[in-house]
Amino acid sequence: MLLGVRILKYTSTRSKIEPITSAKAILQGLSNDGGLFVPEEIPKMSLEEIKNLLPLEYEQRAVATLRKFLTDFTETELTECAQVAYDWFDDASKVPMSILVHDIKNPTAQVGVLELWHGPTSAFKDMALQMLPQLMTKAMKKVSEKHNILILTATSGDTGKAALAGFADVPQIKIMVFYPDGGVSKIQRLQMVTQTGKNVKVVAVRGNFDDTQTGVKKIFSNENIRAELEKKNVKLSSANSINWGRLAPQIVYYFSGYADFVKNNVIKLGEEVNIAVPTGNFGNILAAYYAKRMGLPVKKIICASNINHVLTDFFKTGVYNRNLTFHKTISPSMDILISSNLERLLYHETGGDFQRVNQFMQELSKTGKYKIDSALKQKLNNIFYATYATEEETLSLIKEVFGNYKYLVDTHTAVALSAVGKYRRETKDLTPILVASTASPFKFTNAVLNALGENVADVDDLKQLNKLNALTDKPIPKNLASLANAEILHTEICNCEDMPAEVLNFAGAK
Ligand SMILES: *Cc1c(COP(=O)(O)O)cnc(C)c1O
Repeated sequence: MLLGVRILKYTSTRSKIEPITSAKAILQGLSNDGGLFVPEEIPKMSLEEIKNLLPLEYEQRAVATLRKFLTDFTETELTECAQVAYDWFDDASKVPMSILVHDIKNPTAQVGVLELWHGPTSAFKDMALQMLPQLMTKAMKKVSEKHNILILTATSGDTGKAALAGFADVPQIKIMVFYPDGGVSKIQRLQMVTQTGKNVKVVAVRGNFDDTQTGVKKIFSNENIRAELEKKNVKLSSANSINWGRLAPQIVYYFSGYADFVKNNVIKLGEEVNIAVPTGNFGNILAAYYAKRMGLPVKKIICASNINHVLTDFFKTGVYNRNLTFHKTISPSMDILISSNLERLLYHETGGDFQRVNQFMQELSKTGKYKIDSALKQKLNNIFYATYATEEETLSLIKEVFGNYKYLVDTHTAVALSAVGKYRRETKDLTPILVASTASPFKFTNAVLNALGENVADVDDLKQLNKLNALTDKPIPKNLASLANAEILHTEICNCEDMPAEVLNFAGAK
């Protein structure tokens, strides 16, 4: 049984292509013209349908939302995907919400913190990277894919582990992760090199992250390697954040959070909320935009950045300029100067004007910047509010929230909460707000301990977990606590020029 009467098809942000099904878009990842796949139209979710979400479990809410976009999947298929994906989350509700009253004097000024980090790697990437392999497996059946797929990823830390955890032991798919030797934190490295699974491989590269990423990109664009892989019946694919199969599962939790707000009597069904998102590649926040376009009552979406504030500048001036000084910050997953998913927003807000989007993207790659006109800027400003937090603001926010509520947040979530404060002070708009909390505080112990006044420069990363636990009485997530005793399974290290050989070797291995 197919869900929709009509199949929703996907087109490219950069040119007119023959539209394809969501299964094909998920398997292909990126359009051949370099553009991103976007739905031909944005489906609607009525208030009645939102009301129906209230009594449902997270997995069922996921099916109800995803079926709008993935119309070539059956309801049974989506249910199976969601059940496998979220099965091993460490909280029964999958995405628990903590409600804080931001302005103590004003009890209506609630902040619902959506904890998106109860998955196997303790960061929000799990919400999508647990789902993507399941969707890919079903999609391969649908298009009768005879090849085996090899997922190839270069990582600077978090994405690698989340992808490994998602793809481990998934049939017909192998996953290989390269990381820069010495370029990831001790905990991040341990998370990856202790990964189990018959189909996984993790290799350190002698070089920095750019070298590693360049190595992977070269493999993707090398015809000879592709031909060699074809002989082994293997196709390459990637799991990066522009894949539609990663974006769609992120739309779900905004509906789920809204439903929980209604259930908790924070709002009545139909009343508006605001949403704040700590933003890097613009994927998570774009999902909030899709939710709003689908009919979720959202007034403003707050785009929170760290001092790599390319997006704040863009929304304020209409100029996207990546030629800023790059800063390494205490919220490293947002240290990004090219927010790839912004392209999808431009496509939708220009009414699908792929020629204009294409021009913007060409200017971006040639000169590092582009400028939108004032009409388009106004449209974006009606939907988004953008601001950023300095490192000091981020640290003091962590301290303040822990002091006031005994609630502990990581650095990325702190950036978003800081933005909420700025927004509310500037606009006096105290509409209840959903905040995307993107990582467990135990993933960033060094900065969090610093925020709480502890100097831990000389303390081993694993010991910092215990220290934070002792100081705050918050539990260490199991996956992190178990790292100290986990067996190291991946010890290989290679030079950049040997990466292709590593790939061919692993692709051919049984
Ligand atoms: C990836 C990530 C982000 C940024 O999300 P985008 O979808 O890239 O904007 C924020 N916080 C954490 C902890 C992340 O891992």
